Amino acid sequence: MEKDIFCKIIDGEIPCYKLYEDNDVLAFLDISQVTKGHSLVISKKHYDNFLTIPKEEMHKVMDVAQLLGQVAIKFMGAKGVNILTNCYEEAGQTVKHFHVHVIPRYESTDGFILEMKNNAEGLNLPAIANFVKENLK
Ligand code: AMP
Repeated sequence: MEKDIFCKIIDGEIPCYKLYEDNDVLAFLDISQVTKGHSLVISKKHYDNFLTIPKEEMHKVMDVAQLLGQVAIKFMGAKGVNILTNCYEEAGQTVKHFHVHVIPRYESTDGFILEMKNNAEGLNLPAIANFVKENLK
């Protein structure tokens, strides 16, 4: 099977601007820099996305994402941070290897547009809540 681009970065076949590395996790600058300092945190073992990675591995990645978010606020002048992980193509995932975006936010017009529209009109919220709750069991 063809290696994905993040597996190639882990194996040193493609360069990256490395920020952090341990046995399980790697963090580096996202090549697209949606905002200054936009970084990616990935698991070294290949898992497709957040929904398929084992909890313990996911927690290690999230620990590093939290650290990078704290650095953005403390030292980079960011006023906020978006922590984002896309699961499957329909949600915008383009690299099929679990990764978390850490996107420092400097002002509302800094280049990152996250539009969370209110589409609740006409939906049966009690029925949706019951359905989800039933399936959590
Ligand atoms: P997603 O669309 O959530 O799957 O995010 C994939 C991200 O990987 C995008 O933001 C890309 O800019 C980033 N990316 C792709 N190739 C590279 C690379 N070689 N080095 C750093 N970031 C990359």
